[in-house]
Amino acid sequence: MSVLDNFTDIERRIVKACKAAGRVRATVSLVAVSKRQEDERIQSALEVGHRTFGENRVQEAFDHWAERREQYPDLILHLIGPLQTNKVKQAIELFDVIETIDREKLVDALAKEMEKQGKSPQCYIQVNTGDEPQKAGVSPKELPSLLAYAKEKGLSVTGLMCIPPVQEPSGLHFGFLKKLADENGLENISMGMSSDYEKAIAFGASHVRVGTALFGNRE
Ligand SMILES: *Cc1c(COP(=O)(O)O)cnc(C)c1O
Repeated sequence: MSVLDNFTDIERRIVKACKAAGRVRATVSLVAVSKRQEDERIQSALEVGHRTFGENRVQEAFDHWAERREQYPDLILHLIGPLQTNKVKQAIELFDVIETIDREKLVDALAKEMEKQGKSPQCYIQVNTGDEPQKAGVSPKELPSLLAYAKEKGLSVTGLMCIPPVQEPSGLHFGFLKKLADENGLENISMGMSSDYEKAIAFGASHVRVGTALFGNRE
């Protein structure tokens, strides 16, 4: 299957999932996860007209996107991987949406750098919905205080993101994240990957992050 075929197939599935959930297609964004993909495949995605991409490492994202930014001014780039405070400067230079905010120290660094650069990317808070010790994300019970802190520091927090535990049914976590977003008045909900994006749409995802199903296996 070519990247074009994959896009066509996934678009059809998204439309179907929206219809089944009584949702309008335009309420769901497909974030094409281009990490560790060959340049040729990324170029194919641009040629079919896709403009929204996700990356999980800041440096690699620069390699993929810094130059293309000029050629494709309508790109929308999401950071979906962990962010270290020493990469905050670069992250704000490049990304339109930072999905992985999970601690006050990172909020502080982002707030400072946003002011410096005069930029305010959209911010999502990553929630560790399964409270897994090794996983990034704020614990659900600490979400309200981190949210309040980020708002106080002037971040434009518009959403939540999660990566469910691999061994549990993802629907449980999608439903939970949707509930947390509703309770906190946040409209963006980033959840669902290649194996479960249709389910995520059923549970209210606004952004699904799809990599291998669009581009094929990673290097
Ligand atoms: C890699 C990655 C994805 C995409 O995973 P696929 O299974 O290839 O669709 C989605 N979200 C995050 C946070 C990722 O790191």
